[in-house]
Amino acid sequence: MTATHEVFNQVPPLTNFDAADYPPLLEALQREGAHDALEGLHEVGRLAGSEEAQRWGDLSEAHPPILRTHDRYGHRIDEVEYDPAYHHLMTAAVEMGLHGAPWADPGPHAHLARAAKMAVWGRVDAGHSCPISMTYAVVPALRHNRELAEQYEPLLTARVYDPTLRPPLTKSGLIAGMSMTEKQGGSDVRAGTTRAVPQSDGSYLLTGHKWFTSAPMSDIFLVLAQAPGGLSCFFLPRILPDGTQNRMHLQRLKDKLGNRSNASSEVEYDDAVAWLVGEEGRGVPTIIEMVNMTRLDCTIGSATGMLAGTAQATHHAVHRSAFGAHLVDQPLMRNVLADLAVESEASTTVAMWLAALTDRATAGDEHAITLRRISLAVSKYFVCKRGPIHAAEALECLGGNGYVEESRMPRLYREAPLLSVWEGSGNVAALDTLRAVAKQPESLQVFFDELDTATGVDSRFDIAVEDLKTSFRDFGTLEHRARRIVGDMALALQGSLLIRYGHPAVADAFCVSRLSGDWGSVFGTLPTGVDTSVIIDRATPKVGL
Ligand SMILES: Cc1cc2nc3c(=O)[nH]c(=O)nc-3n(C[C@H](O)[C@H](O)[C@H](O)COP(=O)(O)OP(=O)(O)OC[C@H]3O[C@@H](n4cnc5c(N)ncnc54)[C@H](O)[C@@H]3O)c2cc1C
Repeated sequence: MTATHEVFNQVPPLTNFDAADYPPLLEALQREGAHDALEGLHEVGRLAGSEEAQRWGDLSEAHPPILRTHDRYGHRIDEVEYDPAYHHLMTAAVEMGLHGAPWADPGPHAHLARAAKMAVWGRVDAGHSCPISMTYAVVPALRHNRELAEQYEPLLTARVYDPTLRPPLTKSGLIAGMSMTEKQGGSDVRAGTTRAVPQSDGSYLLTGHKWFTSAPMSDIFLVLAQAPGGLSCFFLPRILPDGTQNRMHLQRLKDKLGNRSNASSEVEYDDAVAWLVGEEGRGVPTIIEMVNMTRLDCTIGSATGMLAGTAQATHHAVHRSAFGAHLVDQPLMRNVLADLAVESEASTTVAMWLAALTDRATAGDEHAITLRRISLAVSKYFVCKRGPIHAAEALECLGGNGYVEESRMPRLYREAPLLSVWEGSGNVAALDTLRAVAKQPESLQVFFDELDTATGVDSRFDIAVEDLKTSFRDFGTLEHRARRIVGDMALALQGSLLIRYGHPAVADAFCVSRLSGDWGSVFGTLPTGVDTSVIIDRATPKVGL
């Protein structure tokens, strides 16, 4: 058959590149003195940029998990079947230590090094990051029961992925989930009705439901339930020590907008055996220790989506021509690309800064604990909120190809809103910032002190910080203005970090657009005078290893 036409002006696939070669990530590690993490990061980058890993991501997305509630004889089995590619992703992530290395090997930059790897590996598939993140996050909460932590922490941090269903203590590596949300309340978990009845042997029997429980094939879960002393946190294994299945029944898997490679289930607990973690009645403060880590990963995940989207957009624009010139050379497209890149740099920079702060906070630094508490709520709100519009614009840079699955842009687009919904939806994250201030008024001063270290360099930033301080004066209307004020806090924090640590061209573009008062509501509205060449070049992946 003769060809009807020659294929030209299509963009080569973005593959066989080092996905870690992204300046804001590398600069964060260098700035913090984590030079010894660079080599490992590039290894992750080369795998993430390989055709093989990209294929694992594609297959996991194309073949979502399937729930098998019963075997062919009618016995309940409650198993979830995944595509083998999903298990490849999990194996790689666990072997990289993304699920727990900072707890097993707590060096001065352990959380930062792990966060940078998450940002690189997460580009391949966001869905499996969920159980990886929950396993990472469970450790600080589990430590509220020393006996359980001593037994399970080594297995939760072991670099072995074992998806078989066996009693956890007989396995070489474990994965963890969390089960809080019920039909009548997700943000308001205190509305939970699952009951926990104490037994004479010290265990509890849990009865009730959970409306969302992701990664239901995990080995262990932290579950919230109402004990005699109030809402409490419980450790619940899927398989009991005697090898029998715990009475945790999977009702359905959610048919989700995105996040398809990850199973999210509805669960019923029917006298399921569990053990108390922390004190009775202290369920929320206990599980919040876990949520505080997953919120960090939401921020990292949104930044990851942005850096992936920006890379695809710049790569496309470098290779695609229209009206006689490459898209990357067309002034308006340069404005869009640079604006996307600025957002991505700001988000990555703040996410890595929060991870470095986590290193100091987990080492017991009180100042870091206070600063992290307020800055994490601020950033979880804002970075995750920016994700969906960033994804939409990055997708559009690829034109019609961007709307087609093969481009992987629809995946980024579907994934983006999720990070803003779970672990504290937009309003809840914004209100959580105000709660942090109300509970610990000095945290606001600590936050402003951090901003003040960047003043005196850029007058637009200085004015924005002064305006922000003024906006806190009217306490009576704070809740109504929470999104506005927390968004301004986030912009000021990102601006301060870029002024101190970012590339001057990026810091300038950020301040002149985000902090100068005439910011357009869409991407591609940077004013003239911005150095788009440097900004776009930093965001453009260098293909070929
Ligand atoms: C894909 C997916 C996976 C999930 N996996 C898990 C999991 O593994 N484990 C788990 O426990 N949960 C999980 N969740 C649940 C998730 O954490 C909740 O959906 C989320 O916390 C919001 O709770 P909700 O759905 O009950 O919404 P609601 O709490 O009813 O909130 C609805 C809206 O009201 C807003 N709102 C709430 N309170 C206020 C207020 N005081 N003022 C103003 N606005 C307010 C919220 O911001 C939100 O926009 C998952 C959700 C999704 C989508």
